[in-house]
Amino acid sequence: MNTFDVIIVGAGPAGSLLGYYLAKNKINVLIIDKQKLPRYKVCGGGLTRRALDIIPFNISEVIESYSHNLNITLYNSIVFEYTSTLPVIGMVMRDRFDYFLTKKATHQGAALRDETAFKSVTGKAGDLNIETSRGFLKAKILVGADGVFSKTAKALKLNISSKQMIGLEAEIYIPNANMLKTLMNITSFDFGVIPEGYGWIFPKKEHLSIGILSVSKKIKAMKQYFYNYLETKKLQNYAHIKSLKGWMIPYGPPKNIFYANEKGLLVGDAAGLSDPITGEGIFYAFKEADIASQIIADKLLFGKGGLSLYNGALKPLQKDLAYALKLHRLVYKIPRISHKLMKVHGNRLGKKYIDIITGKTTYCMMYKKIFSIQGIKTLFSNQRKNPSAS
Ligand SMILES: Cc1cc2nc3c(=O)[nH]c(=O)nc-3n(C[C@H](O)[C@H](O)[C@H](O)COP(=O)(O)OP(=O)(O)OC[C@H]3O[C@@H](n4cnc5c(N)ncnc54)[C@H](O)[C@@H]3O)c2cc1C
Repeated sequence: MNTFDVIIVGAGPAGSLLGYYLAKNKINVLIIDKQKLPRYKVCGGGLTRRALDIIPFNISEVIESYSHNLNITLYNSIVFEYTSTLPVIGMVMRDRFDYFLTKKATHQGAALRDETAFKSVTGKAGDLNIETSRGFLKAKILVGADGVFSKTAKALKLNISSKQMIGLEAEIYIPNANMLKTLMNITSFDFGVIPEGYGWIFPKKEHLSIGILSVSKKIKAMKQYFYNYLETKKLQNYAHIKSLKGWMIPYGPPKNIFYANEKGLLVGDAAGLSDPITGEGIFYAFKEADIASQIIADKLLFGKGGLSLYNGALKPLQKDLAYALKLHRLVYKIPRISHKLMKVHGNRLGKKYIDIITGKTTYCMMYKKIFSIQGIKTLFSNQRKNPSAS
């Protein structure tokens, strides 16, 4: 049995959730992954409420903890504190979470082959020959869910030219029970710990995922920044560090690109649409999986539309990320202003960010709101008059 309606390359959140939706629609789908599953993935494992709300089944068995208390700091001083009865972020470990999603897909009838790498595709739309490390397969549609360095995107000639930020993350164990108890209570986003980026502490069930990211191309000594961050948090003498690893996060929106043609389409990091401020990617992976599943189902089950409709269907996400990118420039490229804003308007800005990650507002609305604040307008017009001051 080597012939399928759809072959999805990559069993991360994007590929697995898409596999689930397609299999639920009785579409003959295969998910392949080059790694042996379950596999470790460098990631904070923070599922924002807007991401949690998309998942169409209960995931409580793979939730490590729920974050109700959140802090934003600037140079180690709190600029925003937030507490909520509803969880703001659900914390997962990506090996367990991703594999849980993959198994949800296989329980619906999707086929799965791990340790099977995608190599190339030939043939015409609707009749594709797919070469893998374990032989040839046939499919009507090929989906690239194979992450930031997507080989499928290149093979489909859907090269996504997104920018990339670098992240470094580790699993941190704290033997001091009192210290761990305090840290477990708060999810922390810390600015001023690395140029053009931030650090985070995400509490898991029995340990912390701690990481840093930067959008600067000039940063070389990521590990040094990481150790400095632990020092700022007074953890350097207590932390048992496991799996300290780096990876790239693509961020959008890319300009003038296509996410689909009649042979296939891209979802998740392969499509390059992560949040340009925070690096959050799983929400976008889930949104794309949802949208892609409807377009594929319309084509295969009802002969309606075509895969290229996916390009238009992603426009609203793309448009909102364009506003996020404007804010990204403010946050990371003009620190003189953004740090002043965090100090003066930390509470208002923090609340807006909570509204974004809980799905109550969009970056477009946040952008318009921020620039309606008179103090911010003035700061900006002064910056324009005297740009070298930043
Ligand atoms: C340090 C760091 C922290 C992050 N923290 C968060 C966070 O807290 N919250 C959040 O929302 N996002 C976070 N992200 C982003 C998030 O990890 C990604 O957006 C998310 O993993 C994208 O999922 P995906 O399914 O598109 O791809 P991936 O999760 O990257 O999965 C791709 C899969 O494709 C497989 N693959 C690759 N090439 C091939 C091939 N040729 N053949 C077969 N299989 C292949 C890989 O083995 C992999 O399993 C973080 C990223 C980094 C680097």
